[in-house]
Amino acid sequence: MSEPHGRSEGEQHALLRVEQLQAGYGLLKAVRSVSFECSQGEVLALVGANGAGKTTLMRTIAGIHPAAAGRIVFDGQDVTGLRAPRRVGLGIAMVPEGRRLFGGMSVEDNLRVAAMRARKGPWNLESVLEAFPQLKPKLKALAGTLSGGQQQAAAIARSLMTNPRVLLLDEISLGLSPIAVEQVYQSLHGLIETGTTVVLVEQDLTRALSVAGTVICMLEGGIALQGRRDELSRERIMDAYFGLARGQAAH
Ligand code: ATP
Repeated sequence: MSEPHGRSEGEQHALLRVEQLQAGYGLLKAVRSVSFECSQGEVLALVGANGAGKTTLMRTIAGIHPAAAGRIVFDGQDVTGLRAPRRVGLGIAMVPEGRRLFGGMSVEDNLRVAAMRARKGPWNLESVLEAFPQLKPKLKALAGTLSGGQQQAAAIARSLMTNPRVLLLDEISLGLSPIAVEQVYQSLHGLIETGTTVVLVEQDLTRALSVAGTVICMLEGGIALQGRRDELSRERIMDAYFGLARGQAAH
């Protein structure tokens, strides 16, 4: 098979490659030697119990939290030492848990500010509003006045405005009503159909499994199980989730 973009052998398909990554808080190792790859167009779900290290892993990939050891390679480039804005410029965008919009600015301005740093690509105000039609009537509203579900939609839309090559979504259903979760996931399904590469952290296993092509289950900072969604049973994932996968290989 030919190698796209002349990359070295072994790196040809991984858009994002995490190699033996470690990160923590003081003496606490929240992420312990985590390695995985994510290809272009892949949807990878990170699941695991509270405190398993998912958010720290995502923040480290985004450059918001420093790596203590290991490497993050994006499209063949080692980005481990790059600051978060440089990573956004390369196409790594994170939607953090809790949404963090500029509450005193209109939805439209939130979106336009993100576009100022945008890479070239398919996403602009028009196309994100097509993906998130619930935002259309809210464009002029202050972001802080939106419902939780609308704010989540706006937060994802804002990240899309940077034309990311990989979108990191941390607990997008957290604190939302079931109807709002349904709406956000409908939009997410649409995004995935456009070929957007997504790494998502999701507490709701059923939701995670409904979108993921690959599943990584974290336990106490490490990977307890990883594999293709269609090759892993729900029972096996649940066992890994609760640390019951005794005697099993990690793949
Ligand atoms: P959750 O679903 O609860 O967010 P998680 O899998 O995302 O869990 P992390 O938030 O990455 O896990 O937390 C991993 C470990 O790091 C936990 O033991 C947590 O208590 C600790 N931790 C997280 N943030 C901090 C922080 N700012 N300072 C100190 N310890 C932290």
